[in-house]
Amino acid sequence: MKYSEEILDEIRNRVDIVGIISEYVPLKPSGKGHKGLCPFHQEKTPSFMVDSEKQIFHCFGCGEGGNVFSFIMKMEKLNFPEAVKMLAEKAGVQLPTPKNQDSQLYRERETILRLNEISASYYQKILYEQNGKKALKYLSERNFKKETIQKFHLGYALPGYEHLIKILVQKKFKATDLFKAGLAVKSRKTGNVIDYFRNRVMFPIINLQGKIIAFGGRVLDDALPKYINSPETPVYSKGKNLYGLFQARMGIRQKNQVIIMEGYTDVLMAHQYGFDNTVGSLGTALTTQQIDLLKRYADEVIIAFDSDTAGKNATLRSLNLIKKAGIKIRIISLPADSDPADVLLKKGADFFDRLIEKSLPLIDYKLEILTQQHNPASSEGKIAIARGLFDDLANIDSQLELHAEVKKIAERLGLEEDTMFKDLSRYQRGNRTLPSISTSAKNVTESTHINAEKILIGSMVQDSGNIEKILSELDINDFTNKEHREIVSVIKGLFENGEKVNIQKIIDQLENQNIIKLLSEIVFKDVVHSDEETIIRSINAIKKYQLQLKLNTIRIKIKQEESENNEVKPELLQDYQNILHKIKTLV
Ligand SMILES: [Zn+2]
Repeated sequence: MKYSEEILDEIRNRVDIVGIISEYVPLKPSGKGHKGLCPFHQEKTPSFMVDSEKQIFHCFGCGEGGNVFSFIMKMEKLNFPEAVKMLAEKAGVQLPTPKNQDSQLYRERETILRLNEISASYYQKILYEQNGKKALKYLSERNFKKETIQKFHLGYALPGYEHLIKILVQKKFKATDLFKAGLAVKSRKTGNVIDYFRNRVMFPIINLQGKIIAFGGRVLDDALPKYINSPETPVYSKGKNLYGLFQARMGIRQKNQVIIMEGYTDVLMAHQYGFDNTVGSLGTALTTQQIDLLKRYADEVIIAFDSDTAGKNATLRSLNLIKKAGIKIRIISLPADSDPADVLLKKGADFFDRLIEKSLPLIDYKLEILTQQHNPASSEGKIAIARGLFDDLANIDSQLELHAEVKKIAERLGLEEDTMFKDLSRYQRGNRTLPSISTSAKNVTESTHINAEKILIGSMVQDSGNIEKILSELDINDFTNKEHREIVSVIKGLFENGEKVNIQKIIDQLENQNIIKLLSEIVFKDVVHSDEETIIRSINAIKKYQLQLKLNTIRIKIKQEESENNEVKPELLQDYQNILHKIKTLV
């Protein structure tokens, strides 16, 4: 959905980019602006600049850049509307209810989120009251500290049937909404509307915007089912979310690593022991949506599943998905019959750190599991083990890595390396296509006309007085770089509509993050000298380049005619001369 310029301006006026960025990165004044260590790449000397006057940022190390919305999008991994929402809340700006979202589904979602919020604070309140004592005692007996309980907003649902629903009905919510939110059910015996969660410690599940989207509830004793979770609702589907991601997102980004555990209590304990980059899978098999979510934050995933589930085939298959998504993956081997929370409590953080250090890459881990399942001494066993690893081997892009892996496995199983390779390539031919060769060769030097395009864009952004002059001399299509063309067309659009042209407006209209990055680079770099002479020189450089392109086309035509022994048309030769002359006058 599109927000109006007025709303965006109002948010921008109320938040200061330096203030917002300082919440994530320590900034120091430097020159006209502020400087700090870039949060988007690893660096020891600061190359991340914030310009408080223009309200934009740029990193000279990795090229990230943009305005306060771009920063929040990148930092919090949000899309544009989500970033606007978040900053609007910070700024205390009321966003209009979007017309196209005024649908029934939108209202339904808003109602459920509201219900969840009220319920979560109710559950939380009860936990600290007299009748919640038993739950708080249970949590402290399991060694959870007060800070951990609060960080994860734990609560307690009382025994009995009509605690929560009474409160919600008082607040005029309808029973159908309570059903939809998964907070109430119809009693099978009496047909009455009753609380869904009863006598359970409550674990709210929070999405990336900080909204409570569902709950998990655990009994206080050994009763079954041990856990019940909210059903799928219009705001929650379990395969798309991860427990604790909201609390862990900063830790994950800092460490560029995420630890995945199975249980709510494992995640809590991990955070309590300083592993604040831990999330819960909300079910054992990871889904591609969950992996996409994680990919936004980290390059490495550490799996710390309970020892009995980690070796299961369903788990290993789901881990293959991560590997395919291009994230590095390692698996922790926990002592038998233990879960991460036990291990942390009994052995402490240092021990767990060592487990992370010793964690095995997926392929090695599978090799361990397969050697436990098949007898590596028998030839059938050897073959079964090797075959079990083909899928993973076939996923390896680097030849060097592949050779190292095959060598290791062959040695371990006492097989011939060559034979394994032959089998592997036969397997690959039958099953999969060749990986595509990457064509990411980058142009290192920048040609004169491209640089001229940047100078002109910079001058137009810097001083809108230059726009008319430049656009009267050049057409959008004279800009050869596609990204530059997009920026120029936004500038042109604003200019022709009689609107004020400034960098914030331009960024608002450029949806593509890469183009915004490019623009921030242009504005930050000192390529911008908007003096008359530089502008004319740049316009001429672009014109000259365009003429040279034309000249080349004519040259090819002339050659073609000559090679076919045709007479070259005089107009063609005339054109050629004219263009040549024009180029000379432009120098
Ligand atoms: Zn950077």
